[in-house]
Amino acid sequence: LNELFSSLPTTIFEVMSKLAMEHSSVNLGQGFPDAEGPEAMKQIASASMYDFHNQYPSLLGVPELRQAVAAHSEREQGIPVDWATETLITVGATEGLASAFLGLINPGDEVIMFDPMYDSYTSMAKRSGAVIVPVRLRLPDFSVPLEELAAAVTPRTKMIMINTPHNPSGKVFTRPELEAIAALCVQHDLIALSDEVYEHLVFGGAAHVSLRSLPGMQERCVRLGSAGKTFSFTAWKVGWMTGPARLLNPIIKAHQFLVFTVPSSLQRAVAHGLDKEAGFYHSLGPSLEAKRRYLEAELTALGFGCLPAHGAYFLVADVSKFQRPGENDADFAKRLTAEGGVTTIPISGFYVGPNPPSHLVRFCYCKDDAKLQAAVERLKAYV
Ligand code: PMP
Ligand code: GLN
Repeated sequence: LNELFSSLPTTIFEVMSKLAMEHSSVNLGQGFPDAEGPEAMKQIASASMYDFHNQYPSLLGVPELRQAVAAHSEREQGIPVDWATETLITVGATEGLASAFLGLINPGDEVIMFDPMYDSYTSMAKRSGAVIVPVRLRLPDFSVPLEELAAAVTPRTKMIMINTPHNPSGKVFTRPELEAIAALCVQHDLIALSDEVYEHLVFGGAAHVSLRSLPGMQERCVRLGSAGKTFSFTAWKVGWMTGPARLLNPIIKAHQFLVFTVPSSLQRAVAHGLDKEAGFYHSLGPSLEAKRRYLEAELTALGFGCLPAHGAYFLVADVSKFQRPGENDADFAKRLTAEGGVTTIPISGFYVGPNPPSHLVRFCYCKDDAKLQAAVERLKAYV
């Protein structure tokens, strides 16, 4: 058995969603929206199945989606992309991330990653042989410690990986932070991997800036997107990557033997979405902002300490006021599900470095208003 994978626990999202079902709790844990994406996309996906789009498409993806991905990159972020050589369609961003680690990393390469981080990064990076060098984002706003970041670079550093807007915190990396990261990449000739699956989920005056849009980054940065987040179809598992051919080529080689390709019916629907449904993804930020404002006000009134953020659909709350002696974040989240009827995600599992905080949980708020209200009522009755 592989030592790493045979000893891995089941991902916290599956654990907490299962627990939520067992206890019929209001599930504000795993990140998936209640409101689905554009109707036309569903129609195109199902019509495609009756229109003979049921055999293997190219391993790179269907041309119309790759063209749409390139046009979207140029339109939204001003990053020119040659669709024929600089795009790849993946089975969600998750497979794109796995293929990126496998295609880019040699055993022993150091990869600088920000702590906390989305849980799939850690294991896939380690399985590729990477040595993860965690740099801890600073509470309460998860800001980038620029001096520590610069000090983390060694002659063995191959890559810096970022995620903005950030899971689990909702933090949107600022332009100065991104410029500092870009400057380090250029100075030390590093690759960058930029997970931007929540690129359209920003609000509160924040703006999403792609790391790939900064000077010197186009030739060294691979950027990821996801239809799960952009169109609220998390089960479709359609993702995309853009980057220079030099970096994309080995990623494509990993992708071809991990999954080979992605269902063409879904790809055709996502192509339509990127080309024609900008109204949908541009409406996500304002809608999420209203939900966040509601939840934050209610949680704050109850005594939760809400950490600031302007993106994604996560709110991280300090629960130390409610923890019992000796109770960590995971214990608290399990008790809150079982006894309080509200499910959250404990944050400590997102940390790689030593002594993670054990007083923070994540609420996911991309939910119907009635569901958010039900959660608040239950919290009022319980905590
Ligand atoms: N990156 C981050 C930061 C995420 O939150 C997620 C979704 N949980 C993914 C990647 C994976 O996206 P997908 O569902 O498209 O595989
Ligand atoms: N991205 C989702 C979240 O952070 C979960 C995805 C998953 O369960 N794999 O909640």
